[in-house]
Amino acid sequence: MCGIFGIFGVENAENYAFYGIYALQHRGQESVGIAVSDFENIKLVKKPGLVLSAIRKEDLEGVSGFLAIAHVRYATAGRSGDFNAQPFLKKTVLGEVAVAHNGNLTNFRSLKEELLRMGESFEYDSDTELFLSLIGKGKEVPKGITLHPEDREYLPYLFYVLKKVSGAYSVLFLLKDKLIAVRDPYGFRPLLMGRLKNAVLFASESCAFDILGAELWREVKPGELIVVDKKGIRSYLFSQSPKKAMCIFEFVYFSKPESFIFNDWVYTIRKKMGEVLALEEDVSADVVVPVPDSGVVPAIGFSQKSGIPLELGLIRNHYVGRSFIEPTQELRDVRVLMKLNPNPSVLKNKRVIVIDDSLVRGTTSKKIVSMLRKAGAKEVHMRIASPPVIGPCYYGIDTPTKEELIATKFSVEEIAKFIGADSLRYLSLEGLRSCVEDYRNFCDACFSGVYPIEVEPEVERLR
Ligand code: SF4
Repeated sequence: MCGIFGIFGVENAENYAFYGIYALQHRGQESVGIAVSDFENIKLVKKPGLVLSAIRKEDLEGVSGFLAIAHVRYATAGRSGDFNAQPFLKKTVLGEVAVAHNGNLTNFRSLKEELLRMGESFEYDSDTELFLSLIGKGKEVPKGITLHPEDREYLPYLFYVLKKVSGAYSVLFLLKDKLIAVRDPYGFRPLLMGRLKNAVLFASESCAFDILGAELWREVKPGELIVVDKKGIRSYLFSQSPKKAMCIFEFVYFSKPESFIFNDWVYTIRKKMGEVLALEEDVSADVVVPVPDSGVVPAIGFSQKSGIPLELGLIRNHYVGRSFIEPTQELRDVRVLMKLNPNPSVLKNKRVIVIDDSLVRGTTSKKIVSMLRKAGAKEVHMRIASPPVIGPCYYGIDTPTKEELIATKFSVEEIAKFIGADSLRYLSLEGLRSCVEDYRNFCDACFSGVYPIEVEPEVERLR
């Protein structure tokens, strides 16, 4: 769960990167970084915290260029904190290269050991560094690819890196005169391409283009590498995957509702999840109450389909500042309570259907149910717009270990009892799958237990 942004072909690219990555703040709040090039040198600014407060005007003074990449981080592999803030920058056989990565490499343990044996040392504690450490270790031109004369010298080094790594990666490389975007052959994480006059942009979600007034152009395809430099734009399909595995959780929770990813609008799919949940409903109620913000869109779908009015029974406090940076569950729970307040005027003596996007550990839902009851709700029926989470994610999302997932240990009735709800129901797996165009192109492993890529045991044990 990270956000990446890149731009080529505009003066003061660092300022565009700043606003672009700000629009992706929801994808990572631990740290922010911008790498910018003036075609001669790459400069780097990295800070812990949120984009707007972390990066000051003076940080970007003297850091001016025509191409830039940026990253917001939420730790999934490696230690959290600014130590692992991206982009990473390293001297390689191609000169200085910066990298920004969204995803998780499933073979990083064995690759790291292989490189350590070769005498390589590592600066960071993150799988992302492998993208830089592997540059110069070999050359490769994938079968069927004819390299453009401009790319013959350096691109085989990057294709070698892509042959070695496996797992989930949407990546931006910044060389002093080139911006290169890559998406893994399974397409786990989104990566979009946009344009603004003569500039070319890349971002994890289309909402980063909106803020800059840029136009959404197209998706970077799974298994595609795109080079942008002064000579133009060149695309290479470096690998054909037997299967696509786009992360369905991006639609459930991570991406912003106004974004376009995976060839669809997040809002449309998320609303459909609520509609299908309503079709599977069997209790009657007076009001539908969303858990803001991610429960709002499915609750609209649920309310419209069921005819039960939607009311704002939980009000979100938007003025909660960030008081900690450690992504532990306890702190996340406190944050939920700081954020939400019940609205007795719509809850008193009402039979309430409360809708949330997902239920992972159950501790947050327990607090929400108790909050609704204290505010006078007569009945509380918890509805979840996704199926029970039964497995961790190894592809770039910070889910808990299997032992911490409540649905792996208890039945739905037991969970309902634990959270104190009159009833609990999840969207069925079939229901979730029916919301996307072709579910076979999606990863739903954390709901189904069917993992599209094998994970090294060492990496598995980390979860
Ligand atoms: S396991 Fe879940 S969160 Fe991870 S990529 Fe698959 S659907 Fe997304």
